[in-house]
Amino acid sequence: MQLLAPERYAELKATGRLPSPKGVAIAIIRLLQRDEFPVDELVRLVQSDPAISGRLLKYANAAAFGRSRPVVSLHRAIVALGSFRVRDLVIGFSVLQANRAGECPGFDYNGFWSRSLATAIACQDLARYAQIAGEENFTIGLLSRVGELGFATLFPDDYGAILASRPDRPTLLALEEAQFGFDHRALGGAMLAEWGLPDLLIRATYHHELPDQSDLPDGSRLQNITLTLHFARSLAEVCVADDEVRWSLLPTLVNRSARLGIDPAALGDQVDAIVARWREWGAMLQVRTRDMPPFAELLAASPPRPGMAAEVRDPAEQDLLLVAADGDETTALVRLIGELGYRPQAMADPEAAIASALAAPPPLMVIDLDLPGFDAGRCCRTLRQDALGDNTYVLAIAAADSEAGAMEALEAGADDVLLKPINPQNLRLRLNLARRMLHLRQEMRREREGVVQSASQFADSHRRLIQVALTDPLTQLPNRRHGLDYLQSEWAVAQGNTLPLAFLMLDIDHFKQVNDTWGHTAGDAVLRRLAELLRAVSRAEDLVFRYGGEEFAVVLPRTPLATAVQVGERIRRLASVETFEWEDWIIPITLSVGVAAAAGRNDSQELVKAADDALYQAKESGRNRVVAAKA
Ligand code: GH3
Ligand code: MG
Ligand code: MG
Repeated sequence: MQLLAPERYAELKATGRLPSPKGVAIAIIRLLQRDEFPVDELVRLVQSDPAISGRLLKYANAAAFGRSRPVVSLHRAIVALGSFRVRDLVIGFSVLQANRAGECPGFDYNGFWSRSLATAIACQDLARYAQIAGEENFTIGLLSRVGELGFATLFPDDYGAILASRPDRPTLLALEEAQFGFDHRALGGAMLAEWGLPDLLIRATYHHELPDQSDLPDGSRLQNITLTLHFARSLAEVCVADDEVRWSLLPTLVNRSARLGIDPAALGDQVDAIVARWREWGAMLQVRTRDMPPFAELLAASPPRPGMAAEVRDPAEQDLLLVAADGDETTALVRLIGELGYRPQAMADPEAAIASALAAPPPLMVIDLDLPGFDAGRCCRTLRQDALGDNTYVLAIAAADSEAGAMEALEAGADDVLLKPINPQNLRLRLNLARRMLHLRQEMRREREGVVQSASQFADSHRRLIQVALTDPLTQLPNRRHGLDYLQSEWAVAQGNTLPLAFLMLDIDHFKQVNDTWGHTAGDAVLRRLAELLRAVSRAEDLVFRYGGEEFAVVLPRTPLATAVQVGERIRRLASVETFEWEDWIIPITLSVGVAAAAGRNDSQELVKAADDALYQAKESGRNRVVAAKA
C-alpha cells in the first residue's frame, strides 16, 4: 500500500480545498484523541447538531433491529454504539453533508454518494463475512472512494478532463498517477488516516478496487474485509444501474458473492434487504436511490430491450445450433428462436450435427431428444470431454412423457431440459437462463485469478440460483411468479389448441387461529405439510404453487370446469381428514376453494380473478367448501 507522503498531504491540506469533516465531527475527532474523555461530553457534542443526532439515533435503532426494545435516548445510542464508532459515523455523515455538490464537471456528486451509501449498507449487512462489527463497515463503505471526491475537489478541471474519457478502474488509477503523481487510493487512504479511522479498514479501502492485484494473505481479516468491500461495490453498481446495464452486471455480482462464501440460496433475500435499507437511508440523507425489483426476479427476468441486448451481447453468443428432425415443428421452433434474438442453425443429421458441434462448439445448443438415431448422451459426453465444447450450454428438448431420456441427457452433461409442448414464454425463460450461465462462465474465465472454484461447483450454484428464483423457500413449491408464468403459458397453449384449462385457488380457513393457538412455527409446519399433500394429489401436468401466505393455487391444463370442481372437492376433503401433526398435537385444518375455467375469459388474469372471487364466495358462505365461478 502506497499512501501519500506526509509532506505532500500537508501541502494539499494547506490549500483548504480538501474535503474534510466539519463542525461537530472535528470536535469529536479532537475529543477522542485525548486519552480520557467523559462520554457525557461526547453526547453533548453530538446533541449540538440535531441533524447528526437524528441520524445516529436512527442508525442505532436499525443496528438494534431484532432486539426487543428500541434505543430511545441519544445517550443510550452512543453507549450502545461505542464512542469510536460514533466518531466514524459522524465523520461519514459530515463529509457527505459538506460535499453533496461541487465544481468538478463530469463528477456526478449525487451518484457518488448514492453508490457510496449502497456500499456502506451492503458492507454493514455483510459484516459477518468480514469478521468485523457492522458499524465500522458502514463508515468504511461510505468513505471507500473518498479519494475520488478529493481529486474532484482539489483539481476540478483537470480531474473533470480525466473523467470525461470514461476510463475503467485501472486506467483511471494510471491517469491519476501520471498527472498528479499519486492515485485516489493513496489520497483517500491519507485522508482516512488523518481522520483517525482504523488502519486495517484503510488498507481494505486501498485494495478493494483491484483485490486480485494485491497479495493479501489468504483467509486473513484484511482479505475478508477487502472482498466484502469489493462485493458491496459491485452490488452498489447493480443498484444504481439502468435496467439494461444492470442485467450485464449480474454475473459479476453472483461470481463475487460466491467468492465471499455467500450461500446462493440466501443471496436474493440479502440483496433485497440491502436495497430496501438503501432506499430508506437515501430518503433520510437526501441521497438519490432507485427502485429495484426483487433480486430473484432480476435473475429470472427477460433480457433487456432487443436493441440494447445486441450491444451488450457478444455476437458469437447469438449462434445457436439446433439439432432436430426436419418438419413443421422444427420450422416453427427455428422461427421462434430467431424471434428471440438468436441465430439458429438447424441440423437434422445426427452424425453431421455432432461433427459440427465438435469442430466449432457453439455457445448454445438445443437438442431434440426425439430425433431418431441421435444419441444425445453420447453427444453431451463427447462435447464435455473437449475443452472448447465444455463451454457449450446444452438445452435438451424432450417429450413430456420421456422422463427417462431427459434424465439421461442431464446426467450426460446437458445443462437443462425443456419438456414439450414448447411455448414461447418458457423457451424464452430457458434461453435467458442459458445466456446468464454463459455470461457467468465468461466472467469466471475473466476473473479466474484467485478464484478457486471448479466449473462444476459453479454449475451447481447456477442451478441453485435458478431454483431459488422460482421456488418458495418455506414449502419448496413453485412460487407465485413461477406459477403465474406457467399459467400464462398454459393459457397460450389452451387458446392455440382450443383446449380447456382450469384454475383453483385454495385458502386455509381461520389460519390466523392456528398461529395464535400453536405458534408461527406450527403454522409453518402445517403449510409445509399441506404443500406435500397438494403435490402428492396433483397430476404430472398440473402445477401446484404457493400463491402467497396461506393461499395456494393449482393450474389444471386440459381440464374442464366440472372436473376441476371434482379435483377441488377431493383436495378439500383430503385436507379436512389429514392429520397435521405438530409436536404432540394434531391441528385440524379446512380449506375454502374457488374454481374457475378459462372458457369465455379474455386472459389469464381474468381467470385468476374469477377463481379468487369464487374463493371469496366460499368464505362468505361458510368456509370448508368449493365454489365454482360462473363461466
Ligand atoms: P380466513 O378463513 O378468512 O382465510 O381466515 P384466516 O385467518 O386464514 O385469514 P387471514 O387472511 O386473516 O390470516 C391469514 C394468516 O396467515 C395471517 C398470517 O399470519 C398467516 N400466514 C401467512 N403466511 C404465513 C406463513 O408463512 N407462516 C405462518 N405460520 N403463517 C402465515
Ligand atoms: Mg388468505
Ligand atoms: Mg385463510
